[in-house]
Amino acid sequence: MRFYNTLIKSVEEFSPLEGDVVKMYTCGPTVYDYAHIGNFRTYVFEDILRRWLKFRGYKVIQVMNITDVDDKTIMGANEKGISLDEYTREYTNAFFEDIDTLRIERAEHYPRATEHINEMIALIEKLIEKGIAYVADDGIYYSIAKFPEYGKLSGFDVKSVKAGARVAKDEYDKEDVRDFALWKFRRPDEPFWSAPFGDGRPGWHIECSAMSMKYLGETFDIHIGGVDNIFPHHENEIAQSEGATGKKFVRYWLHSEHLIVEGRKMSKSLGNFYTLRDLLSMGYNPIAIRYLLLSTHYRKQLNFTFDGLKGAYSTVMRLWDTIGRLESISDLSVDNKVKPKVRDMIDRMVKGFTEEMDDDLNISPALAHLFDFIRDVNSTIDRGELGSADASEILKALQSIDTVLDVMTPIEEEIPSEIMEMVEKRERAREMKDFGLADRIREEVFNLGYIIEDTKDGPKVKKKI
Ligand SMILES: [Zn+2]
Repeated sequence: MRFYNTLIKSVEEFSPLEGDVVKMYTCGPTVYDYAHIGNFRTYVFEDILRRWLKFRGYKVIQVMNITDVDDKTIMGANEKGISLDEYTREYTNAFFEDIDTLRIERAEHYPRATEHINEMIALIEKLIEKGIAYVADDGIYYSIAKFPEYGKLSGFDVKSVKAGARVAKDEYDKEDVRDFALWKFRRPDEPFWSAPFGDGRPGWHIECSAMSMKYLGETFDIHIGGVDNIFPHHENEIAQSEGATGKKFVRYWLHSEHLIVEGRKMSKSLGNFYTLRDLLSMGYNPIAIRYLLLSTHYRKQLNFTFDGLKGAYSTVMRLWDTIGRLESISDLSVDNKVKPKVRDMIDRMVKGFTEEMDDDLNISPALAHLFDFIRDVNSTIDRGELGSADASEILKALQSIDTVLDVMTPIEEEIPSEIMEMVEKRERAREMKDFGLADRIREEVFNLGYIIEDTKDGPKVKKKI
């Protein structure tokens, strides 16, 4: 298995530090708002990586932090005039609901920043003791001049930075490479915790260093996030952790590219900013959204379009239809054996899928293997050449692939009762051979957003996307 490691800027063979256990840290949500589809692109990628590691026999210990104290959450709570805890609780709950909707597997640990202030204080004390952190008038700062390797992840040349210049904000860009705040001293409008070096609250970057090392140890296997986290967040995490321990912090750094919408940067001012909840309220299927987010390679920019989302829906429907056909064949109690030709088709698909996924999660060709297979399966069924043992064996293979993709079980969509009544009315019209009326009802149903399909088991209704 190979991954592209941002730290060495090339693909390298992956092997965990301890046998078959993979320790992985994923930067989690800052719970100041609902997560948007760009965030979910990263979380879905992390989910695919996690599931792929498990598919390949590894035991995964994943930590995802919840940032419930930082500049943005404090500002949000102050604007609403409620406590930080009350403010972040709502968005933390929403985050968990959203990841369940998208079938993102739960991590082993979700540490909250406000519950790990002591670990952060201990880490800062260590950095002060070592002379890497210093006290300024508004907080404790990290002196990047004391960490000669600063810049090794983002490729930034630290020599061009003016010594002693500081940045207090949690988020800043490369023009602002400076000593950054580990701890911000108490201010009248901010929550605070007491610390030996002065009351205050942590900066964002120290949170991830403290929480990752607490749950995964001083050196662990994989750290992931979006590319926008490379600088300054991940660069600072390395500086803090390695500065304190003198050991390598993370062995493999993986970053997912941005998501853009209809070819443009997603932003509220352009009116193309979507949370998961926005898409659901527009009637889009969560599994189609999941499929769309996972089907572009994580290191390529993902252009999210509504046409693409509709396409993703028909793709997953094709999977569901094939699975439905296979299930009805596998139910037949014809006694037979798996044909060598079918066995061959399955092996080829699984091998192709596995080789591509092992190669830095090369999802597009991996999915191409799957859909070539689906096409072959359908034409074998069309020719009447698929027996029940064949169908069961194919279903088993698909279930195994679906432990990674998790898109093959449809969500039971509720069809409103008025639509169901119209469908029944149409059935009665058909029985009376009033096909004109039946067609008119079908059209009415279509205009209300549903499709009636006539099958040998009677009419089936689907939501139109
Ligand atoms: Zn982080």
